[in-house]
Amino acid sequence: MTDIQKQLVVFDFDWSMADQDTDRWIFEVLAIDLRRKMEKNQDRIQWTDLVAQMLQDAHAKGITKGQILNALRVMPFHPAMVRAVTKLKSGGKTTFLCLSNANSVFISTILEARGLTSLFDEIITNPATWEESGLLKLRRRVDPDGPQHSCHVGCSPNMCKGEELEAFLSRKGERFDRVSYVGDGSNDFCPILRFRSQDTVFCRKHRGLERRIAKEGEKQGLKCQVKYWEEAWEIEEYFGQL
Ligand SMILES: [Mg+2]
Ligand SMILES: [Zn+2]
Repeated sequence: MTDIQKQLVVFDFDWSMADQDTDRWIFEVLAIDLRRKMEKNQDRIQWTDLVAQMLQDAHAKGITKGQILNALRVMPFHPAMVRAVTKLKSGGKTTFLCLSNANSVFISTILEARGLTSLFDEIITNPATWEESGLLKLRRRVDPDGPQHSCHVGCSPNMCKGEELEAFLSRKGERFDRVSYVGDGSNDFCPILRFRSQDTVFCRKHRGLERRIAKEGEKQGLKCQVKYWEEAWEIEEYFGQL
C-alpha cells in the first residue's frame, strides 16, 4: 500500500491510548474499599452499571469532583503515545476516532491534561455528566430501556464497537484508503472483523484481544493485518510508517 491519501485510526482508550484502566484506576487512587467491591461484583453486574453504582457510593462517601478529576489527570499515559498521535495528526491525512467503554468525562479530562483535546473527530463512549451535587452520573451508551444492539460477536450490552464503527463510517460518508485500530480488550474484536486486507489492527499483547484473535480470528474470517505491541514506544514506531 503506497498511495494513502486518507486514513482512519481508531483507538480504544483504556490500556490502548492510556496506560491504565480509568474505571478501576480512580477507585485505586481514591477508595480501595470500592475498588474491592467492584472486583467482587464484576461478574454479577453489567460493567457500566457497576461503575455508575461505584460513583454513587464514592459520592456518598464524600469523594469530590476535584478528587476524581485529579486522579484522572495523574493516570499513567505514555509520552510516546502523545508523540505518536500528535505527529500522525500533523501529517494531515489521518482522521482519529475513539471507541471506548469508559465514559465521556474520564476521556475528555485525560485528553485535556495531555494536550490532545482536538485529536479525535468523534469520541464514542458512555455518556457521563456532573450533577450539581458533584455526583458523576454515568449511563450506558445503549439505553437498557430502549432497543438493544444486535451484535452476535459478544459485545457488552452497553455498546457494540463494530456497529458503532460502521455507523461512524456511514455518517462520515468518506472512503478511507486504510483503517488502523489500536486496541487491547476482548470487545475490540468485533470492529476488526469488519476490516479489509489493507487494514491493520495494532493489538496490545497479553490481554483479551490477543487471546480472541488467537482463538477465533481464523474461524471468524479476520482479514486484516495484525501487528503486536507491548509499550507505547512501539506504537510510535509503527505510526512512523503510516
Ligand atoms: Mg481497552
Ligand atoms: Zn459487536
